Amino acid sequence: MQNISKEYLLQNKTIGFVPTMGALHEGHLSLVKTARQENDVTVVSIFVNPIQFAPSEDFERYPRDIEGDTDKLQMANVNVLFMPEISSMYPGKHLTYVDVNEISERLCGVFRPGHFRGVATVVTKLLNIVKPTKVYCGQKDFQQAVIIKHLIRDLNIDVDVIVCPTIREHDGLAMSSRNTYLTGGQRKAAAAIYKCLKEASDLIKSGIIDGLHIKKFMHERILQIDEISSVDYAGVYDPETLVDVSEIKGDILLAIALNIGHTRLIDNMLVRMVT
Ligand code: AMP
Repeated sequence: MQNISKEYLLQNKTIGFVPTMGALHEGHLSLVKTARQENDVTVVSIFVNPIQFAPSEDFERYPRDIEGDTDKLQMANVNVLFMPEISSMYPGKHLTYVDVNEISERLCGVFRPGHFRGVATVVTKLLNIVKPTKVYCGQKDFQQAVIIKHLIRDLNIDVDVIVCPTIREHDGLAMSSRNTYLTGGQRKAAAAIYKCLKEASDLIKSGIIDGLHIKKFMHERILQIDEISSVDYAGVYDPETLVDVSEIKGDILLAIALNIGHTRLIDNMLVRMVT
């Protein structure tokens, strides 16, 4: 992969890169489409990164569909599909990790300790291998995108980060490879996550600026969802620092993480305040 990228760069070609864990859906493909439009060549990686999963998490059962993914990427005219083996990404003793402090410890970081260290480390490695001009991330994983932007800035990696909008199912549920875990009833119930974000956003737009009030409203709405097993977090956050916002002034992030059965789902919405 490094040699292929060196060759492209020697030919003065721009490289658009979409890192994924596979089981591709329309969300991934929208990133691919944007990358295709903005670059000479497009590289997609599929790598289910073991170091970002805790032992209790779903690494083993994470959906894998190499044949289906290959077909989709061929249809999308991707130039290179990079699918490294675990043994080539982590050969022998791996001693170096990338920690993006503070923002990695908030929101999902509280419930998935070590997760973002695994993400930041693998993304740094993938960027060094693929050497892209631009890397494409989805807003769906908002915290991940903030962390990637930070590590690129902090470590002087020469790449632009492009964050693309969340692609949703017809009922508003954010597309996710993990949605395949949901039973029929759970899948129906999951649509309430987007509804809750939308209602909270409407409340803010109607003039409510008390972040705590919005947070309370979101928790109440979520707890009404059938099939819910627990709420990790729901509330109003600063989109850069990810800290709780008590008085809504500028742009804010509404974010939710919850569990339906054994499936952890996340979603978010940016609310832009026009002053
Ligand atoms: P994953 O395969 O889940 O690691 O995701 C790979 C990339 O696709 C990440 O940048 C995600 O944020 C992005 N992505 C996942 N789901 C969606 C979605 N529904 N809409 C837009 N981007 C997404």
